[in-house]
Amino acid sequence: MVAKTMDQLVALCKRRGFIFQNADIYGGLQGVYDYGPLGVELKNNLKNAWWRSMVYERDDIEGLDAAILTNRKVLQYSGHEDTFSDPMTDCKKCKGRFRADHIKDGKCPNCGSTELTEPRPFNLMFKTAIGPVDDGSVFGYLRPETAQAIFTQFRNVVDSTSRKLPFGIAQIGKSFRNEITPRNFIFRVREFEQAELEYFVMPGEDEKWHEYWKEARIKWWEEQGLKRDNMNIYTTPKDDLAHYAKACYDIEYQFPHGMEELEGIANRTDYDLGNHTKAQEEMNLTSHCHPNPDSTQKLCIMDDNNKWVVPFVIEPSMGVDRGVLAVMTEAYEEEDLGEGNTRVVLKLKKHLAPIKVAVIPLKKNNEAIMNKCHEIKQNLLKLGIGRVALENTGNIGKAYRRHDEIGTPLCITVDFETIENQPESVTIRDRDTMEQHRVNVADLPAYLREYFL
Ligand code: ATP
Repeated sequence: MVAKTMDQLVALCKRRGFIFQNADIYGGLQGVYDYGPLGVELKNNLKNAWWRSMVYERDDIEGLDAAILTNRKVLQYSGHEDTFSDPMTDCKKCKGRFRADHIKDGKCPNCGSTELTEPRPFNLMFKTAIGPVDDGSVFGYLRPETAQAIFTQFRNVVDSTSRKLPFGIAQIGKSFRNEITPRNFIFRVREFEQAELEYFVMPGEDEKWHEYWKEARIKWWEEQGLKRDNMNIYTTPKDDLAHYAKACYDIEYQFPHGMEELEGIANRTDYDLGNHTKAQEEMNLTSHCHPNPDSTQKLCIMDDNNKWVVPFVIEPSMGVDRGVLAVMTEAYEEEDLGEGNTRVVLKLKKHLAPIKVAVIPLKKNNEAIMNKCHEIKQNLLKLGIGRVALENTGNIGKAYRRHDEIGTPLCITVDFETIENQPESVTIRDRDTMEQHRVNVADLPAYLREYFL
């Protein structure tokens, strides 16, 4: 198998319409990307797989979709205003700015100079004016993580669902970080999506649940197609932990640019609920919290002995964009077909494939064949398997190549035999084996239901 490089993936993403540089026509906006026609499908499929496994398949997790604009107080009391920063250093020679902890051998990554300033903290949050007065006095933030709204809505969710510990709240949505050096395509960007679960547990049971979620999340990534051998579990050393964490595992993946974090699984203790709660002195808090005279609610829950307790929280937090990059990296293959021919094929898990089935007419613009194609497509859509695409290129070889590259698991070809012979039949071609066989049109729904669902 040929080695995969980031350049190959970036080229495929642009060529086939997965991911484009944002504001490309104006030279781009650094660290910001747009998902194209196929990218939006792939990303939605990955998010749906996460939502399904977290919310639908379990009985202990609720969903939430909170706002991106965030009240400043939330991020003051969460500690982000003071501590959500990366160390930044300047090169005195070329004036480049870099994350100090990404610099190797004390040399400027740009020009190689060793004349670098002392690292200083750079806050990663995007401040934004809220309301019609823009004199700097009234501002909020674009959220740097989706988690905070889960904490601030904790009581509303508990009150409206009568939940008892342990239970979780799941959310998928955009987050924003003014990264000092965005890089490696969609790996480190300034606007990205997170899928976060905050799983609330009894204090003292947190370590057990931390282990549980580590294993559950590795298994889920395997179900998305990532090989266990391409993942690594990194235990964050105590000194490097985020300001809210007692312990953290990173699920790392072998991206084209190296083994790097795909998902963090943190034990956030009672830090967040404790910091946002009213009347902290009445609670048995274990973490060091700032006094909070502003909160109007007690963020606690009744335990089995009718005592109020501030739960601990375990947080599996995945980057959706990093997830897209990981599943594409894993799926990308260049196969040698002999005689100097290679084919690029994206061996995505079928539930992730942007297009599930391509219906292809053997002859372009032939009315009878096209009508049959439309009819088949409409019938397949009713199965609810996802996007079914109709091709009208008239070049079967080209259509197969395109659908191999974008990971379409099955192609259905409608030919003259389909419309002239009884019973009506079509050719089905498998992406991975390239094998083809005839299936009766009447049997297609059952065949595809069996294959996809
Ligand atoms: P890193 O150390 O790579 O900066 P982090 O530890 O700050 O990441 P978390 O705060 O744990 O990241 O965020 C949870 C997840 O969100 C990460 O595992 C990652 O998948 C994703 N994520 C964080 N920052 C970015 C970013 N700038 N671009 C894309 N995804 C990101």
